Amino acid sequence: MNLALFWGIINLENMTEINLESLKIEAKKELENSSDLRQLEEVSKRYLGKQGEIARILRSLDGLPKEKRAAIGKQANDFKNFINLKIEEKTKELKEKSGRGLGSKEWIDITAPGRKPSVGHLHPLTLTRRKIEEIFQTMGFSIIEGPEVENEWYNFDALNIPKDHPARDAWDTFYLKNGMLLRTHTSPVQIRFMEKNNPPFRVIVPGRIFRHEATDPSHEFDFNQLEGLMVGEDISAANFKAVIEEFYRRFFGKQVKIRLIPSFFPFTEPSFQVDMSCVNCGGKGCPACKHTGWLEMMGAGMVHPNVFKYAGLNPKGLTGFAFGMGLERLAMMKYKISDIRLFRGGDLRFLQQF
Ligand SMILES: [Zn+2]
Repeated sequence: MNLALFWGIINLENMTEINLESLKIEAKKELENSSDLRQLEEVSKRYLGKQGEIARILRSLDGLPKEKRAAIGKQANDFKNFINLKIEEKTKELKEKSGRGLGSKEWIDITAPGRKPSVGHLHPLTLTRRKIEEIFQTMGFSIIEGPEVENEWYNFDALNIPKDHPARDAWDTFYLKNGMLLRTHTSPVQIRFMEKNNPPFRVIVPGRIFRHEATDPSHEFDFNQLEGLMVGEDISAANFKAVIEEFYRRFFGKQVKIRLIPSFFPFTEPSFQVDMSCVNCGGKGCPACKHTGWLEMMGAGMVHPNVFKYAGLNPKGLTGFAFGMGLERLAMMKYKISDIRLFRGGDLRFLQQF
C-alpha cells in the first residue's frame, strides 16, 4: 500500500471526525440563536441542503475503504438526525411563541355563527315563590315582608309564647350577642303588620327563617317560610279551607282534597295540621305519602285572641286564620326533589334543570 495514500486516508478520517464534532457544536449554537422560522430555514439549508455541510462531508469520503466509509457515513447520518430533531424542537418552540401574538393577524370568519351568551334563569325557589305570590294575589292577598333579625317580643312573646312556655323550646333559635335573634318563623310579621293596619285584611309573608338544626335531606338551618293571615269579622275555618284548597289546586295543577287534624300552636286556637291528598298517587297510596294517601303540608289555625291583643287590636268580634308552610317543601313536591340541601348546594347540574 502507498504510504502517503495510507496517511492521507487516516488524515481524512481524523479530519472528518473533528469536523463533525465542531460542526455539531456550531450547528447547535446557530439553531439556538435562531429567532424566527426564516433563520431556522437557513440553518437547515446550510447543514442539510444539497450544497450543505453534510453533503460536502459525504462527498469527501470517495476513495476511502468501504468500512471506513460506512463508519463515517453512519456518523454523518447521526449528525443529520441530530440536526433534524433540533430543528423540529426549535420550530415548535418558535411557533408557540409567535402563536401568542397571532390574535391580531388571525383570519376571522365573519360568517360563522356567533357564540350564544348564556342568559341564566331563575332559581327553583324563586320560581316557586313567584308562583305562590301570583296565586294568592289573585285571591286578594297582599305580599308583605319583615326583618330577618328580630327581637324576642315579636318572635315569641307577642305570639303568645311567654318565656317560661315549653313551646319556646320547639324553636331552636340562633341568638345574637346583642340579645336579638334570627327569626325562627315568619309569624312575627303578623304582629308588625297588625300594629299598623286595621282589619279586614289578607296578607302573605314569604321570607327566610333560621333554625339551629342539623341538616339532612328534609332539614336545613336556613330556609323559607310562607306565612298567611286573613282577618275580618266573620272569618272561619271554612274560609281557610276554601282558600287553601284553591291554592293547592292551582299550585299543583290538579284537584286535591285537604283535611284538618287538631294540633297545637300557641298563637292559634283552635290549631290544626293541614294534610293534602297525595299529588303523586291521587290518594291511593305510594312511597311519597308512606302509603297513607295523605301528605302533611302545614300548620294553621284561628288567630288566638291574645295575639290580636298583643298587636294592639281589640279581639272582640274579630276573627281570622293564620297559616305557615315551608317554601322548600312545596318546591320539592312540585319538582320531585328528594333533598332540600340541593337548593343551596350550588350544583349546576341540579340548577340547570329549571
Ligand atoms: Zn301517594
